[in-house]
Amino acid sequence: LTFKKTYSPLSSDEIIAKEKANMDKKRFEHCVRVSETARKLAKLNHYDEDKAALAGFVHDYAKQVPVEEYCKVIKEQDFDKDLLNWNRAIWHGIVGTYFIEHDLKIRDPEILTAVRRHTTGDTEMTMLDKIVFMADFIEPGRDFPGVDEARKITYANIDEGVGYQLAHTLEFLVEKRNRIYPRTIAAYNVWSTK
Ligand code: GDP
Ligand code: FE
Ligand code: FE
Ligand code: FE
Repeated sequence: LTFKKTYSPLSSDEIIAKEKANMDKKRFEHCVRVSETARKLAKLNHYDEDKAALAGFVHDYAKQVPVEEYCKVIKEQDFDKDLLNWNRAIWHGIVGTYFIEHDLKIRDPEILTAVRRHTTGDTEMTMLDKIVFMADFIEPGRDFPGVDEARKITYANIDEGVGYQLAHTLEFLVEKRNRIYPRTIAAYNVWSTK
């Protein structure tokens, strides 16, 4: 595992070491698989493979940051205070970018936006956003009913993959009577019909 360009003053090895130190082994291995899947999706969609691989690798960098630390950052930084009514499932994308900028020194806006959007999706999504969003969903370690169909659809047409994931996630959240973050619904309304 190595990144030719890190979009950061830190080296590839330093980024990898910091990521490893910030999460458990299982999460780290998921990030490696998302990176590899993102590279594959980038190649298929004529996007910069190295950039996609790095964005995929760091997408869950802040997934295991303590709740208290998140609350502090949301209160002290320029974040929508409504985020305090949510949890790490939502925070690690939207607020996770703060830790990626701060710890990993990655300031590339495309990478940060892709991380920001990777859990909920969004009404507008760039190719990198879609690559990270879909790589996270279909990486080889994922095993849920429909994952094979999701892979098939996504490799054929990444936009249809986005619609499939949003529908699947909404069904899953409603089934569990979970609250739906408004951006997830807004994204579904756009991508379900594309
Ligand atoms: P992961 O970080 O690799 O586990 O994957 P994601 O970042 O895509 O998703 C993290 C969690 O957030 C998953 O359990 C999703 O089902 C959940 N999630 C996605 N959208 C929403 C939402 O709108 N509301 C809530 N409550 N959870 C969501
Ligand atoms: Fe995530
Ligand atoms: Fe996701
Ligand atoms: Fe993930």
